[in-house]
Amino acid sequence: MHSDGETAGVLFERGDGLTYNDFIVLPGHIDFAATEVELSPHITRRIALKNPICSSPMDTVTESRMAIGMALLGGIGIIHYNNTPEAQIDEVRKVKRFENGFITDPVVLGPKNTIADVDTIHEQQGFSGIPITEDGTLQGKLQGIVTNRDIDFEPDRGRLLEEVMVTDLVTAPEGVTLNEANNILRESKKGKLPIIDGDGRLVSLVSRTDLKKNRDFPEASKDESKQLRVGAAISTQMEDRERLEGLVEAGVDLVVIDAAQGDSVFQLEMIKELKKSFPDVDVLAGNVVTTSQCEHLIDSGADGVRIGMGPGSICITQDTMAVGRAQATAVYQCAKYCRTQGIPVVADGGINNTGALGKALALGANVGMMGSMFAGTQETPGDYFYKDGIRVKKYRGMASVEAMERGGDKRYMYSNKNIKVAQGVSGLVVDKGSVYDLVPYLVQSLRQSFQDMGHSTVEALHLALENDDLRFERRTSSAQREGGVHGLMAYDEPFREGGRDRQ
Ligand code: IMP
Repeated sequence: MHSDGETAGVLFERGDGLTYNDFIVLPGHIDFAATEVELSPHITRRIALKNPICSSPMDTVTESRMAIGMALLGGIGIIHYNNTPEAQIDEVRKVKRFENGFITDPVVLGPKNTIADVDTIHEQQGFSGIPITEDGTLQGKLQGIVTNRDIDFEPDRGRLLEEVMVTDLVTAPEGVTLNEANNILRESKKGKLPIIDGDGRLVSLVSRTDLKKNRDFPEASKDESKQLRVGAAISTQMEDRERLEGLVEAGVDLVVIDAAQGDSVFQLEMIKELKKSFPDVDVLAGNVVTTSQCEHLIDSGADGVRIGMGPGSICITQDTMAVGRAQATAVYQCAKYCRTQGIPVVADGGINNTGALGKALALGANVGMMGSMFAGTQETPGDYFYKDGIRVKKYRGMASVEAMERGGDKRYMYSNKNIKVAQGVSGLVVDKGSVYDLVPYLVQSLRQSFQDMGHSTVEALHLALENDDLRFERRTSSAQREGGVHGLMAYDEPFREGGRDRQ
């Protein structure tokens, strides 16, 4: 009988708070290929992802572009709420409209609209190929379609669409399968295929570009109608109940109640109300770090629990508020409790490399939520600029002074609106390229991490954690130094400009 290392129970019952850096997972036995690793975790009771990856609801991380990338790559993005309800709802809509086999809610114009109206839609939403119905609404009689090709070289942007639209249309009848629709598109060489009912009224649209994307992303997180999955954050404040209605109407899959200290009467009421009014929408509640907090959220109806108070890279909550918990300890203790209730756990914050993500899962988390990991990619909101010759983007905490000025403080409960205490900072991150390169790299490293731990699924890993088959060891500070790069003057590491954080 071998007894290397110790069980998670022994490691975490000592009473001191451990971070991901403070321990290591001992390797297991490999009897499968990394390609056989099946990650597919649940993020909430009813929503399963292909990859355990989620982008944070922060205004420098997740809007529709990031959320589309996350979903296509098998994870999910949570649209932030540091904007007007309309803007947030619009971002959700953009994700739901993207790449869905049938676009059931296409942007439609009427014959009396102008080319300038098409320009505005193209600018704001990126669509080209707009169906024209007699009254300009979906369900109106289809009259034509306007694509870029019809209007690109037209100098007079005030011209009516009825003068420039194509009326010689290839359409398909309602009830056509996606396969049949795709075949018609292929044969007709058209960009868009309007689907119409028996009276010639527009029902939906199939897009050729979606067809191509469908081929490229077999792991995409999709709902039953093949629309990409997306989450949206709301606060616990009364005013966000209105936001909620619009978000649900737009088709949001997951509502994240975003509060730095999630165990409040306001959140519990919000969960209950949400579950009553929208029983089909899953709720990820949080943030919490103790088992009794988890119990409160779950008893109120939470479908998933988000763990983390203070580990975020931009976070100064523990310094200013005196509360929080070291993240590895928080994840282990909370996940242990939530598992008994059948509720998935999201480890939020402090995941700055794939090893930390692997460790979070080894401690019982189902999914990792990340901000800084994705900050600085092309898909985040905001522009690149140069600082000391390095291409950078902004990354800021939602409770940084800067973000609070735009409404980010809804995550934090204030009794004094005049004095806003910052719990986050605002900083810069280097250009990391695209999430379409970063996430596959992340997922492949995670598969190899699972292989090294000797478990080929998240369930198997969690079972080994419960059975005490998974063994851990505390790392001394010199062990941490030894485990990091050392003895080099300079070095490169993929997606991490300037190398790894100093240990
Ligand atoms: P990161 O992945 O370590 O950068 O952490 C991201 C997480 O930090 C988010 O998902 C939030 O839970 C949390 N967070 C966002 N803004 C703030 C803030 O201003 N103060 C503290 N925590 C924050």
